[in-house]
Amino acid sequence: MKLVILGAGESGAGAAVLGKDKGWDVFVSDFGTIKQQYKDLLDAEGIAWEEGHHTLEKILDADAVVKSPGIPPTAPVMQEIAKKNIPVWSEIEFAGRYTDAKMVCITGSNGKTTTTLLTYHILKSAGVNVGLAGNVGKSMALQVAREHHDVYVIELSSFQLENMYDFRANIAVILNITPDHLDRYEYKMENYVKAKFRILQNMTPRDAFIYWQDDPVINAQLQRITVEAQMLPFAEHKEENTAAYVDAENNLIINTSERHLSIPRADLALNGLHNLYNSMAAALSSTLLNIKRDDIRHALSDFEGVEHRLEACGTVDGVNYINDSKATNVNSTWYALESMTAPTILILGGKDKGNDYSEILPLVKEKVKGIVAMGLHNEKIIDFFKDVVPVADTHTLADGIEAARQMAKPGYTVLLSPCCASFDLFQNYEDRGTKFKAAVKELMNH
Ligand code: ADP
Repeated sequence: MKLVILGAGESGAGAAVLGKDKGWDVFVSDFGTIKQQYKDLLDAEGIAWEEGHHTLEKILDADAVVKSPGIPPTAPVMQEIAKKNIPVWSEIEFAGRYTDAKMVCITGSNGKTTTTLLTYHILKSAGVNVGLAGNVGKSMALQVAREHHDVYVIELSSFQLENMYDFRANIAVILNITPDHLDRYEYKMENYVKAKFRILQNMTPRDAFIYWQDDPVINAQLQRITVEAQMLPFAEHKEENTAAYVDAENNLIINTSERHLSIPRADLALNGLHNLYNSMAAALSSTLLNIKRDDIRHALSDFEGVEHRLEACGTVDGVNYINDSKATNVNSTWYALESMTAPTILILGGKDKGNDYSEILPLVKEKVKGIVAMGLHNEKIIDFFKDVVPVADTHTLADGIEAARQMAKPGYTVLLSPCCASFDLFQNYEDRGTKFKAAVKELMNH
């Protein structure tokens, strides 16, 4: 049987190795350049590969294709494959066929990485033989081939879910659904929602579905479909059936049919309402996997957080600097602002994906003392906020930080939570966050 792998990144190279191990005749094709480490891995395994082009006749000869989530279905090579009706799988779908491990799968528009890493941290600290996979961590296929875990915690994007068919999650989490990546879904929210809900396919009453009870988009979809799995919603305030919530004494309560757990909210390592939700989802998943109460409590309180997500970078002249570079849409900046307790100078800007800033307007009015627009095109931000708070117009990180420093007084927070993608001034959000942190360090050393 012939297996073609399209895209030789972390997931593709891992799928190639697993395929080879399982007796497939594997060929790897990447339209771009393959990183040296993956070339070395493929060579060491004796797997044929090409880069810089796709040899169509070889690809169309495949019995199955494993595709990198980055390749859209509209790519010419995918259309040729579709014409020949060759099955196209994601790496997770493929890896899932070769393991009996329990699958904890996490999706949503925002909070996936945080919740995935937090869940992994709880399980790992409790001594579970757990693997981390999907958008974070190592290739799941490679782990299935080489490491053999009992449980996988998997971050799933809608792109990966698009090519999943037989895969069954034992625990599925949908954190929230807000418009994102609509360019990939013919600008139809409905298609994006459907892709996210594929996480529930093949689930049985022995499995569990954890979701945010107050999400209007999730609720609307739940009216339309039947869910086989046990439903465990979380919310800030308890309603009927809520499995995780905050009680009157400010404790996070976990209440499943079998177990009860209470953790003072003040003990949670991650701050902010969004992280309360992420902590609830992680605690519910861990409870269902029978992790001991004390292990869950402990791990929720000593989690170190994730880089570029509300990451404290230091204090200069009594001003606190926070790096939330990962906030690339308005909704994530809303949650960042929601969690601010001090007067804030907000650094916004970058590549706007059609942002509607009115969502954050009330929080800006309440908490923000000044905005620094930092991007190539700041007009939209300036126009929107100029009558609300002072707005500085900057086009480099150095100028942006300087403007923020001047606006801030002791006791203030400077928050980089840009609402936008970073590609105008930076390579990506990591680059933006790393440079921001370095600039803050610089200030600290002066
Ligand atoms: P993802 O992997 O889905 O992009 P991350 O965990 O990287 O999510 O968090 C990205 C940003 O989204 C964070 O900086 C934070 O501002 C925001 N965020 C995190 N969790 C949530 C949540 N549960 N609901 C809404 N926004 C969130």
